[in-house]
Amino acid sequence: MPYSYEAPVSQTLFDRAAVVTPGGVNSPVRAFRAVGGTPRFMVSGTGPYLTDADGREYVDLVCSWGPMILGHSHPEVISAVQDAVARGTSFGTPGEGEVALAEEIVDRIAPVEQVRLVSSGTEATMSAIRLARGFTGRAKVVKFAGCYHGHVDALLAAAGSGVATFGLPDTPGVTGAQAGDTIVLPYNDLEAVRAAFAAHPGEIACVITEASPGNMGVVPPRDGFNAGLKQLCQDNGALYISDEVMTGFRTSKAGWFGVDGVVPDLLTFGKVMGGGFPAAAFGGRADVMAHLAPAGPVYQAGTLSGNPIATAAGLAQLRLLDDAAYDKVNAVSKELQGLVTEELTKEGVAHRLQTASNMFSVFFTANEVRNYEDAKAQESFRFTAFFHAMLAAGVYLPPSAFESWFVSTAHDERAVQRIADALPAAARAAAEATA
Ligand SMILES: *Cc1c(COP(=O)(O)O)cnc(C)c1O
Repeated sequence: MPYSYEAPVSQTLFDRAAVVTPGGVNSPVRAFRAVGGTPRFMVSGTGPYLTDADGREYVDLVCSWGPMILGHSHPEVISAVQDAVARGTSFGTPGEGEVALAEEIVDRIAPVEQVRLVSSGTEATMSAIRLARGFTGRAKVVKFAGCYHGHVDALLAAAGSGVATFGLPDTPGVTGAQAGDTIVLPYNDLEAVRAAFAAHPGEIACVITEASPGNMGVVPPRDGFNAGLKQLCQDNGALYISDEVMTGFRTSKAGWFGVDGVVPDLLTFGKVMGGGFPAAAFGGRADVMAHLAPAGPVYQAGTLSGNPIATAAGLAQLRLLDDAAYDKVNAVSKELQGLVTEELTKEGVAHRLQTASNMFSVFFTANEVRNYEDAKAQESFRFTAFFHAMLAAGVYLPPSAFESWFVSTAHDERAVQRIADALPAAARAAAEATA
């Protein structure tokens, strides 16, 4: 383990964690398995910076995997949380904060006529799929290889679908019955979707897709792909579910819908809308949402759904996310994209920078990445070298070559300069890396 001893306090904590928690983490990517070395245990965050248990400061390009779009410890979000927590932490009754957050979402995103709050993106997609099945009376779900929708059984499953699947690992614990109604198709391939509808007439309840995928690295939809999905769903009596858990309230004020304007039947949200707390949602057409309990027969519930602290944090964050905030995030993202490309080009590293509004990632390949197969064809060993050089210089990147990078309104000139200073050595490390 060449990187094990750079963070002795984190290493000690990781050793302790490994005794009481499988793999030492509560979400797999945090364990650094893809890049090796010691996961950094963070103790605090301010603006664009994180501080680890060894007292080292990093410019954060993960932003909690997207939510911290205003940076860490934004004073107005913290103060909204403090006000909320002083009134109590959970009531198990309706509260005004939930109404206000739902109104904010409905106001921002035209296709969302009604919305239900939940606590995680996984819950949102799971519930949206149940609702789509309940509404249509059909069983099958189409998803795309490389798109992640949380750890919902039916959406992790590639086994048993009988359709070509592309690289999704089979997960023990997901049964053939749970997997059997999932059809996995290559992303950005409308012909494959057309063929699936033709092969299963009247059986497909919904197509679920990341509005613009960020979970295989950033692989935006080709021109007309989302519109084509919507049309095929409409022609075949299926629902089009746009998973905006990552893109929602990040890629624009109205998420990816605000970018491409394609109107989904249902949408799912999480990440940014919780302001760093567990809050997520699904919503869309009122006639579909009317099937949800207690208005309709499709059951869905949650003890902590609409939690007053989470809704206060989410609402405070969304209210600060005006046009100027998005302009700022987009500008920082553009600047970083330019810096990264410049340094990698200088070192002659074949790479492809792909963007979706202010989300971006670097693939270590010369070719365009249109789907999961393309993404996997990159030279990830170059990312590993790049990642560790950046980390050593105080820049915290996602510990995987298959993730989006995230910036915030708090990434100022000083933070960008630190990244710029780290890039030449990291680009050189990527150039010199061997498989
Ligand atoms: C993060 C994510 C999820 C899962 O959300 P959790 O809150 O981690 O359960 C679902 N879909 C997409 C597109 C995501 O990025």
